[in-house]
Amino acid sequence: MTNIAELRKQINYHLYRYYALDDPIISDAEFDQLMQTLRDLEAQNPELITPDSPTQRVGAEPLESFDKVTHVVAMTSLANAFNDEDMRNWLGRIERRLPTWYPRDAVEFVVEPKIDGLAVAIVYEQGLLKQGATRGNGLVGENITANVRTIKSVPLRIPATPDGPPPPTRIEIRGEVYMPIKEFNRYNQQQLDLGERVFANPRNAAAGSLRQLDSRETASRPLAMFGYGVGYIEGAELQTHWDALEYLKAVGFPVNPDIIRTKNFDEVLEFIRQWMDKRDELGYDADGAVIKINDLTLQKYLGLVGNAPRWAIAYKFPAREATTKLLEIRCNVGRTGQVTPYAVLEAVNIGGVTVRQATLHNFEDLAKKDIRPGDTVLLKRAGDVIPQVVKPILEARAADSMPYQPPTHCPDCHEALSHFGEEVALFCINAACPAQLVRQLEYFVSRPALNIEGFGVKISEQVAQAGLIHDVADIYTLTKTQLLSLEGFAEKKADKILAMIDESKHQPFDRVLTGLGIRYVGSVVAAFIAHAFADIQALQQATQPELEQINGIGPRIAESIVDWFSRPANRTLVQKLRQAGVTLSSSKVEPTAPQTLANLTFVITGTLPTWGREEAAAFIQDHGGKVTGTVSKKTDYLVAGEAAGSKLEKAQTLNIPIIDEAGLKKLATE
Ligand SMILES: [Zn+2]
Repeated sequence: MTNIAELRKQINYHLYRYYALDDPIISDAEFDQLMQTLRDLEAQNPELITPDSPTQRVGAEPLESFDKVTHVVAMTSLANAFNDEDMRNWLGRIERRLPTWYPRDAVEFVVEPKIDGLAVAIVYEQGLLKQGATRGNGLVGENITANVRTIKSVPLRIPATPDGPPPPTRIEIRGEVYMPIKEFNRYNQQQLDLGERVFANPRNAAAGSLRQLDSRETASRPLAMFGYGVGYIEGAELQTHWDALEYLKAVGFPVNPDIIRTKNFDEVLEFIRQWMDKRDELGYDADGAVIKINDLTLQKYLGLVGNAPRWAIAYKFPAREATTKLLEIRCNVGRTGQVTPYAVLEAVNIGGVTVRQATLHNFEDLAKKDIRPGDTVLLKRAGDVIPQVVKPILEARAADSMPYQPPTHCPDCHEALSHFGEEVALFCINAACPAQLVRQLEYFVSRPALNIEGFGVKISEQVAQAGLIHDVADIYTLTKTQLLSLEGFAEKKADKILAMIDESKHQPFDRVLTGLGIRYVGSVVAAFIAHAFADIQALQQATQPELEQINGIGPRIAESIVDWFSRPANRTLVQKLRQAGVTLSSSKVEPTAPQTLANLTFVITGTLPTWGREEAAAFIQDHGGKVTGTVSKKTDYLVAGEAAGSKLEKAQTLNIPIIDEAGLKKLATE
């Protein structure tokens, strides 16, 4: 048996390589394999699960409310500087207060980009993560330990490095939790695809994710963290702020690689200018720079003024805001039919970029802010994020202005819009809505789905607008003559696209499932489904309770799948895809295998003598059987290998026949 502690150590090391250093030394697949081995071992030996196990990052039961945490050392806020003059004044104040024993030319500064996220304090005792808290009002914060544990770049035990220093008795590490801009944009896009709410900016995303009462929700958010200091440390000594940062790195915390240390104040100002110029390239939303005196003894000597330390200052980058006139509120129709508002603006320059449109997020937000057509509005732009309308300037509002009314009909197909359940979002449910068709087609041909290279947004719009297709399956009936009738198509391009379309018929089942655009069924869920169902016929016939039996599928997804297949237009779509010869069954299914296990449901557990679980599952599916993840009354057989754990017990309680690998083979050949 693999040594579980050793395995955990290995995984923690790879997490550190990946999240703290951004320099992995094994592939994602190899990593997943290690995690799976650990999960299996822990499932069989639950008594061996430790709080620092990497499997314990998935979140815990939701809380009623957050407990309060009194900070041992206050998390002070910083005084602000807005220009070089403010900075030189700050320096002057420090120089006047320097003790005689401290020569001016010995003063060192540490300069770091100021990330617009949420500050947290994380306490480790004997190396083990004990508590995570928000800054709160600086003196009292909220206990968000369960949420902090789900952030993958935060070590559950320090040192997370193989040769890091031994852990101190107690240490409080401070840092900024943020959502990288790339992840933020991806997360918002995914939310839009799912017809869910989006975040206004990365800061709100980080704060909202970290203050979830259900830490399982936090675990699903792409949060990252940079350590920026040590609140206090017991059992070790630090001389300078730079030492503290080096220490954080040594124990495995990600530390912003762009931080510098210098004695030259002109260099400090130069650094700030450089960051201001390239703030769009940072990968995170930076709203300024923080400048600190490096020497901790000198920090202590300089002390506080009011609530803010004298030894540090935040240089605020000029806000990239502008006011302009909102000409019109228009609406977009997404792939799922969700209608979202956006603002058409009088062109305005913000931080070197001309802005003509801005997001209005959703109708609820729009109503709350009472933004109206004709208003002068305040706009804000951050990083690569789409510009947003912050608020209307009420003083400039016209006397005859009227509140905005959300549309009642689809801006594209003019069918009546509807709400789903209690959701505030508006949807166009017309299956033939042209706007949705373009979005669906874009999605169908995209990389995670059918991956039809060269068939982008433009062609999607062209073929839909030309009336050449009425659902995504129609791309398989496109002819060369039809393509040549479109603008910008020559012989060669048409041939290439047709060849790519033809090739896409061989894409595996899970990609086709992804491409169907069923709400909540992205590529991960599609893979689960393709694994559990031999073909689309079986999926179409599955009931909601049957679907919920499948690993990775909850009630919400199951309901959405059943709903999707219940619509005649979608059944027709599937029929058309079948006629076109698109893969609608798992590739592992060999039509030659006798369907001896048809109508039987299996659960596999433990280590089988010759087969991996995937292989055993494929074998069962090849023979027409079904494999699910949990033992229930509906399970026909439990296939148990060595070291089978709780599933075996459950099967015994439910009197479910238990067979081994040989028994399975025998069953299939009988
Ligand atoms: Zn419509």
